[in-house]
Amino acid sequence: MKEIKVRFAPSPTGPLHIGGARSALFNWLYARHTGGKFVLRIEDTDMERSSSESEEEIISSLQWLGLDIDEGAGVGGDNGPYRQSERLDLYRKYAENLLQNGQAYYCYCTGEELAAERETCLAREEMVRYSGRCRNLTEQDRRKLESEGRKPVLRFKVPEEKSIVINDMVRGRVEFDCEGIGDFVILKSDGMPTYNFAVVIDDYSMGINHVIRAEEHLSNTPRQVLLNEAMGWDPPLFAHISLILGKDKAKMSKRHGATSLKQYKETGYLPEAMMNFLALLGWSPGGEEEILDRQELINQFSLDRVVKSPAVFDLEKLNYINGSYIRQVSLQRITELALPFLQEKGYVSQNPGIEDFEKVKSIMSVAREYLNNLSEVNDHVGIFFVEPSYDGIDVQEILKQEQVPGVLESFIAKVKEAESLDESSCKKLIKSLPKELGLGAKHVYKPLRVALTGLTQGPELYQVIPALGCEKTINRMKAALHSAVN
Ligand code: GLU
Repeated sequence: MKEIKVRFAPSPTGPLHIGGARSALFNWLYARHTGGKFVLRIEDTDMERSSSESEEEIISSLQWLGLDIDEGAGVGGDNGPYRQSERLDLYRKYAENLLQNGQAYYCYCTGEELAAERETCLAREEMVRYSGRCRNLTEQDRRKLESEGRKPVLRFKVPEEKSIVINDMVRGRVEFDCEGIGDFVILKSDGMPTYNFAVVIDDYSMGINHVIRAEEHLSNTPRQVLLNEAMGWDPPLFAHISLILGKDKAKMSKRHGATSLKQYKETGYLPEAMMNFLALLGWSPGGEEEILDRQELINQFSLDRVVKSPAVFDLEKLNYINGSYIRQVSLQRITELALPFLQEKGYVSQNPGIEDFEKVKSIMSVAREYLNNLSEVNDHVGIFFVEPSYDGIDVQEILKQEQVPGVLESFIAKVKEAESLDESSCKKLIKSLPKELGLGAKHVYKPLRVALTGLTQGPELYQVIPALGCEKTINRMKAALHSAVN
């Protein structure tokens, strides 16, 4: 079988959105699963709305997500250039061919004339489409219209009484009647191609044989098939993937929260979690397991399991997936990713030395248990960076119990004696204490917790102590002792 070649073709008019990222991912997974190629093409013919900053941001979001590009903008390849604004001559050449063959014609209608046609169609309750008024202009008509200063567009002659059938790989058989299409513009009056025209030429000349894209382009597909036929090319196979909805079943928008991939990156979502989550927006793996890494996704991905119904963006699910990656990846990496958040809060200096970094690492080994994303880290690490206050009524109630000074003193002595203060030695040390002191567990552990953290609840003590380190642990015990006896 021919090598599968797919593309992601964003318009650089803003950041990479969740929907675009999901389209890119499905294409990439399909290419990787089949051993095919993944192309990145930049569709920047809307000069006013396109910007190189958006292009850079889209490329860096794709890189962050881990989608490597085989051919395309920023990477190069044999079928470039990969930016539509650099391919204008090619579009003009093909447009010229269609014109010569009588499959396209110049249209001089003004915006007002087209609006009036539209009104007439609406008033007659007819389908709104271009009437074909300029289809049969003579050379003389054209000269006259041009002498009025009109600049023509080039329209494609849509065949009459024809229907187009698309066997969509996700949606199945979809049929369109050409009747409803109307001759459409392929080159604008400034010589720029329209989306439908450029996409056909690019897909063909770049060897794209599978087009996986958002459902909103389904209505463009018959136009693209007609253009392929007019050029004598086989159209690619299409797979239109469903919309992404918010939990309220409305189309996903800013109202539902962050829509750009960059925002998720900046909030401390991990790229592998994002990849995993996006893959599940409209596709489901064969088995029960939903936490799938890059390789598992590649192995399992198929268009057969992409569903027609809309996907629902569920932030709780993303949090669940991200949380499980946060707990699963290396502590070193999680610490590095958490660092900017801790620095912003002022908990960690801008250039921490190795020793400080190691301390943050042991704090992160505790804190990561509680995180949905890394921006939440500061809600869980205050106990390690800020000295506790013992003034609260509930804290005082515990510290003033009569056994407390003895408990704290014995604990200080044990910590001083301890050879190491890692999790397992702390576990032992803590466990032995109630028995040695002849006290109930509650009467020992509550005061220790309060002394160490200033809180009555929180992470396990055997995790808190190594993260605080010996010196801080002892200092806090002494401060609590002081508060207990005064
Ligand atoms: N530039 C189009 C978009 O961003 C691409 C559509 C397509 O994949 O054909 O929606």
